[in-house]
Amino acid sequence: MSSEALPIVQHSNTPTLLFSDYHTHPQGHRVQRYTHELLQPWADSARRAGLKDIAFTDHDRYHSGIDFDEINRLRELNPDLEIRAGIELDNDPVHSPAGRKWIEKNWDKLDLVLGSVHFLERADQMFDSVPDGAVQFEGRNIDEMYADYFRRLRKLIATGLVDSLAHLDLIKIHGHRPTADIAKLVNETLKFIRERDLAIELSTAGWRKPVNELYPGDSIVELAMEKGIPFTTASDAHSHVQLGENFGNLAHKMAEIGIRNVCIFEKHKRTEVPLQL
Ligand SMILES: [Zn+2]
Ligand SMILES: [Zn+2]
Repeated sequence: MSSEALPIVQHSNTPTLLFSDYHTHPQGHRVQRYTHELLQPWADSARRAGLKDIAFTDHDRYHSGIDFDEINRLRELNPDLEIRAGIELDNDPVHSPAGRKWIEKNWDKLDLVLGSVHFLERADQMFDSVPDGAVQFEGRNIDEMYADYFRRLRKLIATGLVDSLAHLDLIKIHGHRPTADIAKLVNETLKFIRERDLAIELSTAGWRKPVNELYPGDSIVELAMEKGIPFTTASDAHSHVQLGENFGNLAHKMAEIGIRNVCIFEKHKRTEVPLQL
C-alpha cells in the first residue's frame, strides 16, 4: 500500500487520522520574541495541514523569547486550534542550567516539556548539526558513543522536568550504526521512561536527515509499544511550512506497526486519543 492511500486530512464528519504536531520551533535557531507576526503563520499553516493541535517547543536556550501572553492571544484568535505552550529542554552544558530554572519557574504555564540530548563530549557543538556534527563521530568507537548518548538521556529524564522524549535515537542522525547489540541499552532506557510514566515522540524529522529514517527506528517503537509507552506525533518544524511534514508516511507507518492512539498534553496532563486507522 502506498502512503497516499491513508489520508491525513479528512472532513469534519469523519475522524482525523493524525491531528497533532508536538515539536515545533517558531524561533528557529535564535532568540526571537513571540509576537503575533511570528506565531500567526504557524496557526495558518497548521490549519492548512489539517492539524488541530500544535505545541510550540523552542529550545530552552531561547527561553527569553517565549511570551505566554502572546500564546494566549493566539489561542483567542484561533479558537479552532489547540495551541500548547512547550519547550525543548536540552542537555546543553552552557545554557540548559538556566533553561531548567526557567522551566521550574514557569512549570504551571507550560503544557509539556520535551527532553533532548544534543550534546556529547563537545560543549561547543550540537552533535546533530548537519553536516558539521558528523566530525564528532570520526575515528570514534560508535558503540561507546551510543552508550554515552543513552546515559545522557537517562540523566536528562532523571531531572523530573520532562513529559516526553524527543527524537529518542538522534544519535543515528548521520547514519552511524552500532556494531554491538544495543537492545539492552535501549531496553534499560525505555524501562526508565515507563517507570517515570513519560511519552516519546514519533518524529518525521529523521526522514529529512542523512539517516533518512523515522525517530525512533522500528525496533525501538515496537519495544516501547510492548512496554505501554504512549506516543506523540511530531515534525520538529523549524519553519511553519514544515508543520505536519511527512505525516502521510507517518500515518502509514503507524498503521503498519499497529499504533492506535496518540497522546496530547494540557498542563502536563496526558490524554490518549484513539486514531481512526
Ligand atoms: Zn532536538
Ligand atoms: Zn527540536
